[in-house]
Amino acid sequence: MSTEYQIQQLRVSDIAEKFGTPLYIYDGDVLQQVYQELRGLLTPQVELFYSLKANPNISIVHMLQEMGAQAEVCSLAELHTAVQAGVAPESIIFLGPGKSDDEITACIRLGIYAIVCESFQELERIEIIAASEGRIVPVALRVNPSFSVKGSRLTMGGKPRQFGMDEQSVLQGKEQFESYSHVEIMGLHVYMGTRMLDVEPIVQNTRHILELADRIENELDITLRMVDVGGGLGVPYHEGEQSLSIATLTEQLNPMFESFRNSHANTRLFMELGRYLVGTCGMLVSRALYVKQSYGEHFVVTDGGTNCHMAAVGTGSYVKRNFPIASLTRYGESPVAEYNITGPLCTPNDVVGKRVLLPPVERGDLIGVFHSGAYGPTASPTHFLSHGSPAEVLIVAGEAHLIRERDTPQDLLSKQRLIQVSDTAITN
Ligand SMILES: *Cc1c(COP(=O)(O)O)cnc(C)c1O
Repeated sequence: MSTEYQIQQLRVSDIAEKFGTPLYIYDGDVLQQVYQELRGLLTPQVELFYSLKANPNISIVHMLQEMGAQAEVCSLAELHTAVQAGVAPESIIFLGPGKSDDEITACIRLGIYAIVCESFQELERIEIIAASEGRIVPVALRVNPSFSVKGSRLTMGGKPRQFGMDEQSVLQGKEQFESYSHVEIMGLHVYMGTRMLDVEPIVQNTRHILELADRIENELDITLRMVDVGGGLGVPYHEGEQSLSIATLTEQLNPMFESFRNSHANTRLFMELGRYLVGTCGMLVSRALYVKQSYGEHFVVTDGGTNCHMAAVGTGSYVKRNFPIASLTRYGESPVAEYNITGPLCTPNDVVGKRVLLPPVERGDLIGVFHSGAYGPTASPTHFLSHGSPAEVLIVAGEAHLIRERDTPQDLLSKQRLIQVSDTAITN
């Protein structure tokens, strides 16, 4: 008995028929549940910022904004996306180690809440641009702290990084910070890492960050108007990984945040999250084009490979541990064989899932890669082999909305210029 996968009572085959494959489908209900669960459990003393990097689609940003999220952006396009999605400038922070003059100028002109500065040299650029714009600009310092806590898949603190300013130099920077007349140092930002699935390291990180905020206020003799404690909360991808317990996490964090706010009434607390908010709501859907065997192994060649979903590959160039993958055509049926799920690229690395146990797969079947709402198409080499970006669909109130059109060959060619090269210009 074959059971087809459904999202909000819509059959994926109907969605795939309507919008084509490969495509990303986001379940708006799940997006809402994830946000509202966290919002409900986290103390109201902490404000939530959405990191657009994880999924910059304007409709996703808009849904999160409607639910109350503010925005953390890292490029001019992300800044425009947030604004067009309805986020007020005073609810936006701009971050990133390589801000261009254009980006800094745009932040100043829009009047965003804070620029998160990542180096002393950047601070000087902000001062110069702010002076020429005739503005005093609120700036938060991204600090690379001297502590680091294990438990993140990508540790940030306590080691040489291109991000932020070293804790020591910030603590000794009073004189320099006071020399600026168009920059107001008003915030602290620390981002400790990503994909954290354990409560303890997050709690320890946060405690360290709040202590650092105290030290910075004392050493620099300022009152911080904001402390962004980062986030980096993870989503389970691989077998054996457990979901982060938000209930346990908030139970431990809330008293810390509340006591900090009690002694720092004028300091807003921010948490910035990307993956955690959007990761679980999304799925890559691809269609099996060919099913074949090679030297005893099964291969399903789909129309959506690593060019749509590089994240499934993980670090390194070959998939080591699989994302949750299922046949959407025969969902829940007993597995019969191990299949390698591959894509259309002409590289042996184009493997989205390695030896995945699945029910029988036939040409035309739909394959789903779950927990793929974060770092999907925009973090993938979508231009490789000129396939272009897949379509993206958001399901809201039982209705499927196209939120990104699939790239066409015309789209891909439109930015290229054909120059006329005469025979004589080509030397043999
Ligand atoms: C990437 C990044 C985020 C988002 O990280 P997630 O792990 O997706 O939550 C937030 N802040 C900074 C500074 C980042 O670089």
